[in-house]
Amino acid sequence: MQSPGSLYVVATPIGNLNDITQRALETLKSADLIAAEDTRHSGQLLARLGISARFTALHEHNEQHASRYLIAELLAGKNVALISDAGTPAISDPGTLLIAAAHDAAIRVIPVPGASAVICALSASGIVAPNWLFYGFLPAKPNHRQASLQTLAALPYTLVFYEAPHRIVECVADLARILGGTRRVTFARELTKLFESIHSLPLAEAEAWLSADANRQKGEFVLIVGGAAAGDNTDDHAELRNTLTVLMDELPLRQAVHIAAKLTGVKKNTCYKLALTLQKTDL
Ligand code: SAM
Repeated sequence: MQSPGSLYVVATPIGNLNDITQRALETLKSADLIAAEDTRHSGQLLARLGISARFTALHEHNEQHASRYLIAELLAGKNVALISDAGTPAISDPGTLLIAAAHDAAIRVIPVPGASAVICALSASGIVAPNWLFYGFLPAKPNHRQASLQTLAALPYTLVFYEAPHRIVECVADLARILGGTRRVTFARELTKLFESIHSLPLAEAEAWLSADANRQKGEFVLIVGGAAAGDNTDDHAELRNTLTVLMDELPLRQAVHIAAKLTGVKKNTCYKLALTLQKTDL
């Protein structure tokens, strides 16, 4: 019987092409098949690195189907390299289904480490905190984002987020409102690229700083926020906010308020006022 091939999880640069590793180059050159998020984008990247390869698409919309195909190829003895558009696959990127399926099928999974925006940002942030929590992307919908932030507000760990440029201002406003303005935030922007910048300031000043120059809102961001200090003021209505958020997704406002008041024991009037704020931020 044919012995299975190996699945290589290969990191690619997050901006600067010179950050490709020697081992990544060798792995990509020798792989029978490269599974890539966007085959056109990766085809161009690999062409610039002097590599011609056979590609197959694996992205968030076809991951299950593509994984079945790739597992069959691996079992038939092919070596497969998994890459994403940039950075390390499966870190806020597709790949986990394939990797889990490979482990289940007793296929060897071999990491080929390299760039990842989270590590790149933390390493150059100067933040003196031994413990940090990588959250990845917060939800795009404001009330879901706020509910997620509520669950993080009391944690004594540095928090690390990915965020898209078109949501950076509203995200930072929520961070300040829910985590408190005194915590520091670091904007690690366009890392390893031409307009790379790393800037820290208190959350209370962050929205104004971003708005003062449109260029500060452009590109790719990692946000690093200080953890909760002992006695930090967190929202008294965290539980109510979460309950309302879930109910308001399913029910008309009055009904959501009625049930939330019963579940949490908070006065109906208070629930109603908070529900109106949540409704407004969700528009
Ligand atoms: N798998 C990738 C990794 O290992 O970093 C992350 C992919 S995720 C879809 C893309 C997000 O990573 C961006 O929205 C941004 O938050 C962050 N990111 C990627 N490249 C970056 C860069 N050069 N500078 C700052 N943030 C970056």
